[in-house]
Amino acid sequence: MSEESIRTTAELIRHADAVLVGAGSGLSSAAGYNHYHRNAVFEANFHDFEEAYGIQSLFHGFYYIYSKPEQQWGFYSRYIKFMEDAPAGQPYIDLVEILKDKEYFILTTNCDIQIPKVFPEDRICQFQGDFRYFQCSQPCHDKLYESHDLVSAMLDNMEGLEVPAEWIPRCPECGWKMVPWVQDNTFLQGEAWQTAYQRYEDFVRKYQGKKLLLLELGVGEMTPSIIKLPFWELTAKNENVFYACLNREASHSPEHLRGRSLYLQGDLAETLAALRQARSIAATIK
Ligand SMILES: [Zn+2]
Repeated sequence: MSEESIRTTAELIRHADAVLVGAGSGLSSAAGYNHYHRNAVFEANFHDFEEAYGIQSLFHGFYYIYSKPEQQWGFYSRYIKFMEDAPAGQPYIDLVEILKDKEYFILTTNCDIQIPKVFPEDRICQFQGDFRYFQCSQPCHDKLYESHDLVSAMLDNMEGLEVPAEWIPRCPECGWKMVPWVQDNTFLQGEAWQTAYQRYEDFVRKYQGKKLLLLELGVGEMTPSIIKLPFWELTAKNENVFYACLNREASHSPEHLRGRSLYLQGDLAETLAALRQARSIAATIK
């Protein structure tokens, strides 16, 4: 990351009519919440699960095949409580400042509750769900249930690392077990999901033909169809759209986006801190 590319990005933001952010797991990793790999946060908070099951990361713990639901819910409830309590990471706070005086919208694959801690609900679309909610596992009906009280009750009644069966949340309509509202094969794309997705589409439509900056932050290669590919397509089809990709890893965009795209490789926490500073300097000069 060079000073010049930071300045260029800050200028792109300043001149844009609106900014559409695409946030991936790299942004949470930069904030210290790495769900895919073992890190200090995992060791400090989930050491007992590691000892009991050999779980190596939060993601591993979530998808681990437990021998009974009492164990699975032991991990779920601890994981959700951890994400609820975790303070918003610095890169997210910097992003708030970077976007402060802009029209913006955030599309994200993250469901770890970082984004709704610092951004209003009507400016975000959490494409893969949000751990603050549960849904029926069938699902038999279109309703999300706040997980907070159910999680507290489970943790209060935990026996060792297990949640006793009577405390495992069940669907009030059909009696099946509930599941966290996150991407899975029964993921509920009901009214709440559609409303948020509609807001994203409305935002894109509103700024059609205007100077729209696409700011892609920490999007990996795992699910390119949600953010990366639509962003490339938007850029290719609209000459006023500019695509800026900020990532720790090196990335490449298609040849035809040359001239209307920019890559900024480097630690996202450092990049966003520098960008925030460049934005505030520009604001004082202005
Ligand atoms: Zn049900």
